[in-house]
Amino acid sequence: MGRERDSASRCLLCGSELVPVLAEVYDTRFGLPGAYGIYGCRRCGLEHTLPRPGQSELNRFYEEHYNFAGVTGASYHGLRRLLHSPLFYRLWLAIDGDVSFHARRGRGRLLDVGCNEGRGLTFYRANGFQAEGLELNSVAAAAARARGFIVYEEPLDSFQPPESYDVIVMSNVLEHFLDIRQALDDLRRLLAADGEVWISLPNSRSWLRRQFGRSWINWHVPFHIAHFSLNSLSRALEEAGFEIHRTKQITPALWVAQTIIARFKARPGEVTGALRDPRFVVPLIVLARGILFPWLWYKNRRGRGDCLAVVARKI
Ligand SMILES: [Zn+2]
Repeated sequence: MGRERDSASRCLLCGSELVPVLAEVYDTRFGLPGAYGIYGCRRCGLEHTLPRPGQSELNRFYEEHYNFAGVTGASYHGLRRLLHSPLFYRLWLAIDGDVSFHARRGRGRLLDVGCNEGRGLTFYRANGFQAEGLELNSVAAAAARARGFIVYEEPLDSFQPPESYDVIVMSNVLEHFLDIRQALDDLRRLLAADGEVWISLPNSRSWLRRQFGRSWINWHVPFHIAHFSLNSLSRALEEAGFEIHRTKQITPALWVAQTIIARFKARPGEVTGALRDPRFVVPLIVLARGILFPWLWYKNRRGRGDCLAVVARKI
């Protein structure tokens, strides 16, 4: 029992001891009960959510709270539709930054891990790739198939595709894995020689985290198991046999808006409806993008952006 607890509270990357960083962090989105702590690794700096949920507990959380089809509210759907119209969206990417690599062009076989209802796949296909998806949520996977894509419903570690991939996209996905090293090994296994992985995830050294503390929307406990900085992500990738090719920092206006909303509206144990309410979201996005943009640009340049986007090559 003691040993079990010990291994459960050690660093997922290097196995070193974890020290408390922030206490009393709660779910600011869906209102899941319970308080969590953020703990940092003494050696590699990777931060962790503790207590770490078990896989079966996580599966239940995802089923109950994470289904895109479960999103309610007609006005939110209206907002989504507007943001997702291709022309508007391309313009938005150019202004706000591309956290999901939707603007990258190229050729070859591409796998989108956690492809959801296949919106990203549509962009990757339009950009020249032969795009396929991996999605555990069967409702979302069916929606992506209805758009004409091959979508596998298997966990990454048991996934055996007929052919390897030239690109694997992990857009806001890696931080959800309970076994990060296994996930990175699997990416390597699934990639062709010289294949690339495109990873984006929240930056644990962002100014928003520093400014807003436990209200930072990207703690996203208990779903985010690990919280990466550019250092800890680079180290993890290099140790897994990848070479960093390109890094970029972005601060999406939506993440700024959501963090501000969480700061003022979230209550422990309650769903934060305002996160999906255009009356709150739209003015804050306009504020972030229209007024704060020099600040966001400066912070991105200084390594304090809210999202890390990394392209790494298998070596
Ligand atoms: Zn560590």
